[in-house]
Amino acid sequence: MGTAATADIVIVGAGIIGLSAAFRLQQAGRQVTLIDRAGMAHGASFGNAAAFAFTDVLPMAAKGMLGKVPGWLMDPLGPLSIPPAYLPQITPWLVRFWRAGWRDRRDASIAAQVALMDLARSEMADLTKAAGTAHMVRSDGSLELYESEAEFAAGLPGWAVRQEHDIGFEHVRGARLEELQPGLSPRFVAGTFVPQWQTVSEPYEFACALGEALLAQGASLLTEAVRSVVPSSDGITVTLDNGTEITAKQVVIACGAWSKPLAAALGDTVPLDTERGYNTTLPAGAFALQRQLIFGGHGFVVTPLANGIRVGGAVELGGLDLPPNYARADAMLKKAASFMPGLKTEGGKQWMGFRPSLPDSLPVIGPSSASPDIIYAFGHGHLGLTQSAATGRLVADLIARTKPSIDITPFAATRF
Ligand SMILES: Cc1cc2nc3c(=O)[nH]c(=O)nc-3n(C[C@H](O)[C@H](O)[C@H](O)COP(=O)(O)OP(=O)(O)OC[C@H]3O[C@@H](n4cnc5c(N)ncnc54)[C@H](O)[C@@H]3O)c2cc1C
Repeated sequence: MGTAATADIVIVGAGIIGLSAAFRLQQAGRQVTLIDRAGMAHGASFGNAAAFAFTDVLPMAAKGMLGKVPGWLMDPLGPLSIPPAYLPQITPWLVRFWRAGWRDRRDASIAAQVALMDLARSEMADLTKAAGTAHMVRSDGSLELYESEAEFAAGLPGWAVRQEHDIGFEHVRGARLEELQPGLSPRFVAGTFVPQWQTVSEPYEFACALGEALLAQGASLLTEAVRSVVPSSDGITVTLDNGTEITAKQVVIACGAWSKPLAAALGDTVPLDTERGYNTTLPAGAFALQRQLIFGGHGFVVTPLANGIRVGGAVELGGLDLPPNYARADAMLKKAASFMPGLKTEGGKQWMGFRPSLPDSLPVIGPSSASPDIIYAFGHGHLGLTQSAATGRLVADLIARTKPSIDITPFAATRF
């Protein structure tokens, strides 16, 4: 039997989502206790590609991706892989993913994503100012690259959808392409420059700066694993793996890819899985990179960071337990070297992260079925850093029982 304690608000998970929610709740005058088994930002928030991808509003299934899937799956180190051992578990998720790309669901998903991204942009500007992290944000846009006229043409319908939602972009070629990123392989015939896209100088440092600001203002962080979260007669009981029970007034579940069992125990069966991603962070000076480059046909990006250059992405539908296959990171680095002649590939650090992904590419943000005092904030897939401040705002709205800043119906845990 463990010990007992009380708390105002407990946030389970100190990734970028939990930290952002904590920041907004602390601003609202609440006393926040963060609990994370690994400390601050050691999940997906540690090593991601650093982008505020505010213009990325199309569901993964509608990004022209489905047509590419058979070719991608033929290459075991390509942009998408499914380890055979995990195929039975992931099949229902894949069926839902495919269905999410149909016109009716796609349009509803885009409308929800546009609203969340609009909020994300304004909330991120506000949060970084308040937390003193605005100097870590780079506003030099992104450059997506195409190897053929056919690849460029295949992307045009997606850009037309973005145009309908007033998202700015510029298709570029020749001297303008060279100006935006000198030194690329001539295999790239065209590109799309997206000026609103931003990146952070280093995602782990960005998350930790937010966390340090929280702790300085009186929040606390327990490095412990949470076993269960259940409503009780005097609040919400959070039980740690070491047996300690903490009774909180309200709880936020922000455990990224690991949120599924906690939600299931509260009566919400959510098809959360993980899209594992890989990258290599090269030392500073590896290439004269001007802004984030997106090699969409190959499923990876190259990001300028304060301390180097990060090359990676890709999706491996391999669940939470299979060991990493770093040959996937090697394969992307090799491709990057051929796309960016002169890229110095020595001295890199490899990493794998677990994107928390729902098949419709939308997160879960909203109350649990068991109690309005247990709020979910997980499942942001490829976009958790981008949508962290918006999620923090919505969680603070829900905790205060005020009308959320945007309609949160599309993000309900019960939508599946
Ligand atoms: C290769 C890659 C590139 C990416 N690039 C981008 C990008 O450029 N832009 C973008 O917006 N997003 C990007 N993402 C996605 C983004 O990283 C995630 O969506 C985001 O980090 C999710 O944040 P989170 O706080 O929900 O989860 P996490 O950061 O994974 O945090 C969850 C936390 O919960 C803790 N936890 C889990 N279970 C328990 C438990 N039972 N008890 C206590 N603690 C627990 C974990 O220790 C962890 O710290 C990328 C992801 C990957 C893998």
